[in-house]
Amino acid sequence: MLLILNLIRDDVGNTKFQGGYMSEQIEYETMEFDVVIVGAGPSGLSAAIKLKQLNNELNVVVLEKGSEVGAHIISGALFEVRALEELFPNWKELNCPVSLKVSSEQTMWFDDETHAKPVAQSLIPKPMHNKGNYIISLGNLCKWLAEQAENLGVEIFPGFSAIETVKDKNNQVIGIKTGKMGIDKQGNKKDSFVESMLLLAPVTLICEGARGQIAKQLISDYKLDKGRDPQHFGLGIKEQWKIKPENHKLGHVEHGAGWPLSENDCTGGSFVYHIEDNQIVLGLITDLNYANPHISPYDEFQRFKQHPHIKQLLDGAQRLVYGARTIAKGGPQSLPKMHFPGGLLLGCSAGTLNAAKIKGTHTAMKSGIEAAIVIHDGFKLDKPVKHLAFFTHQFSKSWAYKELIIQRNFAPSIHKWGAWLGGAYSFIDINLFKGKLPWTFHDKVPDHLTLQPADRCDQIQYAKYDGVISFDKPSSVFLSNTNHEEDQPCHLVLTDVSVFSKINLPLYHEPAQRYCPAGVYEVVGEDQKLQINAQNCVHCKACDIKDPTQNITWTAPEGGGGPNYPGF
Ligand SMILES: Cc1cc2nc3c(=O)[nH]c(=O)nc-3n(C[C@H](O)[C@H](O)[C@H](O)COP(=O)(O)OP(=O)(O)OC[C@H]3O[C@@H](n4cnc5c(N)ncnc54)[C@H](O)[C@@H]3O)c2cc1C
Repeated sequence: MLLILNLIRDDVGNTKFQGGYMSEQIEYETMEFDVVIVGAGPSGLSAAIKLKQLNNELNVVVLEKGSEVGAHIISGALFEVRALEELFPNWKELNCPVSLKVSSEQTMWFDDETHAKPVAQSLIPKPMHNKGNYIISLGNLCKWLAEQAENLGVEIFPGFSAIETVKDKNNQVIGIKTGKMGIDKQGNKKDSFVESMLLLAPVTLICEGARGQIAKQLISDYKLDKGRDPQHFGLGIKEQWKIKPENHKLGHVEHGAGWPLSENDCTGGSFVYHIEDNQIVLGLITDLNYANPHISPYDEFQRFKQHPHIKQLLDGAQRLVYGARTIAKGGPQSLPKMHFPGGLLLGCSAGTLNAAKIKGTHTAMKSGIEAAIVIHDGFKLDKPVKHLAFFTHQFSKSWAYKELIIQRNFAPSIHKWGAWLGGAYSFIDINLFKGKLPWTFHDKVPDHLTLQPADRCDQIQYAKYDGVISFDKPSSVFLSNTNHEEDQPCHLVLTDVSVFSKINLPLYHEPAQRYCPAGVYEVVGEDQKLQINAQNCVHCKACDIKDPTQNITWTAPEGGGGPNYPGF
């Protein structure tokens, strides 16, 4: 659809924007900035901070769909400080919430439901070593980064979702449109109605994290993924527990692979990090290229907790928080072109995560820093839009891109040969040849095309939840503090409602009811109807990625809705 653009300046110089789709004409309030940033995660905030450090005169705004900065942030999180050090060389003096150093580490191979053994650390691919890294709450780090940004004069608008870009007649992005507020389920205006606003700027940075809705649209509009491998994803499910002091080892980190995922030819890995106050965070990342539609990543995680090696840790423990989010892990082969007319895709919106390290925060921050340098130069040269094209070269020279290249074969080799053989290959490729072997593996099959018909796959009978270590989805979602205004249009949009009864149910027994970790999709009643409980959505984006027909589009709900993770 063509957006009609008409800028009008009033007597006092304020800009009003009249626009609309086809015949509908709407007058929008506008605000103008030098740089508009979508997403207050590590990449967006690092870009904002660096921009203001380089030129305090620039007007920079950051939009965040969470009710506050950090509300939607979920991460392990083991943190490499390299980018933070570049941003704030004196970060240790600034009360930065990065203080718990990794004290010891172990990697486990889970053979089956009863056996697990440690793997010698010397056999683990080097990027997975964590000496010198910190265990942090990424939510708290983002809050701290937001404070630093505001001190520098960045405007941060939490509770505002960007729903699409605004383009000019030359098909160049000139800003974003925020979502409307106060629309009921049927699409009628409520008393609380607030129209969308336009935030306009010569430069727009898209920093939405993995599978951003605007990034997805831009990648398609500008064919930014032409000639690249499809992006690949994992679904990370994480919990925070308070455990008995005698089971706790402050600063200890443990990664694992094998069971339970290996039982169904699925790959991914687990993590357990011991943080302050006798708490641990533990999680399981399930690669979303699995074939068996009966797999439920949520239930795989519940099984994982029943392994004796994990169960003994949780003896007498209390679960505090639950959350889920996808990660983009395809590596540099899957990285789309990060530059588009009028802006850049940064961090996990593009896919800068280092899968071998299972870390994406430091590389996301670095992409923001490099973007700021290019944008600053562009403004100095008085050609901010044109100069953006230089970003690709700038980022490719950075240490972040170089480390992505070294580990480029990690994810595809695991996809090809499984965790054990793929891990062994990665040890040779990365530890012995430092990523210099003259070939690059590819995985050309997008995650939504890997599912096999349900009748051809083994049925999986997951055990009943015990309510002690394993729990049902509603009680888990409760611990994510998820909250949405109920009377609003469903933000999970089906392109064609008949796909459910024609394809998804008969062929795949509707996999959404199993891959969604929040119980959003249910098949109910004798006549087997699809029910979408949108208010449960924790914004993980798994449905947008894994639906076999790509019939589900995740769109941002009314701003402020979603999980409210407390320092996750
Ligand atoms: C379970 C799990 C464990 C992980 N463990 C680690 C780890 O140990 N170490 C590590 O380094 N990395 C880890 N990662 C990866 C790391 O979290 C990401 O690489 C990093 O957060 C990416 O930063 P980002 O700025 O690109 O995106 P994000 O951190 O995802 O931030 C994006 C922000 O944008 C907001 N947003 C999105 N769309 C919109 C919109 N349309 N309008 C307004 N706001 C919007 C979101 O609410 C969010 O606040 C883990 C990830 C997961 C899911």
